[in-house]
Amino acid sequence: MNFADLGLSEELIQAVTDSGYTIPTAIQAQAIPSVLMGKDIIGIAQTGTGKTAAFVLPMIDVLGEGRSRARMPRSLILEPTRELAAQVAENFDKYGKYHKLSMALLIGGVSMGDQIKALEKGVDVLIATPGRLMDLYDRGNILLTGCGLLVIDEADRMLDMGFIPDIETICTRLPATRQTLLFSATMPPPIKKLSDRFLTSPKYIEV
Ligand code: AMP
Repeated sequence: MNFADLGLSEELIQAVTDSGYTIPTAIQAQAIPSVLMGKDIIGIAQTGTGKTAAFVLPMIDVLGEGRSRARMPRSLILEPTRELAAQVAENFDKYGKYHKLSMALLIGGVSMGDQIKALEKGVDVLIATPGRLMDLYDRGNILLTGCGLLVIDEADRMLDMGFIPDIETICTRLPATRQTLLFSATMPPPIKKLSDRFLTSPKYIEV
């Protein structure tokens, strides 16, 4: 099995090859074709399994061409910490180098000015921690009604950090017909409840 067998575009296969990867990991092999088909996914995978590429790669192809509108991101990746959000943004830049998608990183600890400017210009992809996303949303800088693709990464860490109520609020603000991908190392009952409520007939993948 190689990356071309998964249904990714030529540009993405080139970006993956440039990164030095030839064989998809188990989570990539199982998740990528389903994400490309528009399915919801629950991925039970630890960090180190290649799970970031398992959602970033197909997401880039699902979004395709950049077409951003002011304050209306087309997709949202939620991360529990600033460091993880920044790492996912690096992956997005690396794999998306042949696509013209715009991205904004919304994390705390830095000034909101540049984040607001990026949102005003319009972005295809938001990578955010829940707190900063909620702040900007409550200030009226973001509309989530055009956001058709949601990734909830490290869901069990979100739970440990008390972010589940924020995530529920965020989910209710996205269109109900969106595609949702949830990744977690474990599946404690509150995460099972969250996925039952906000995912539609998800494919369950455990690696
Ligand atoms: P992650 O689980 O997403 O944190 O990824 C763990 C590490 O594996 C990262 O350093 C990736 O760059 C690397 N990686 C991702 N996909 C592959 C692959 N198919 N082959 C080899 N390494 C990979």
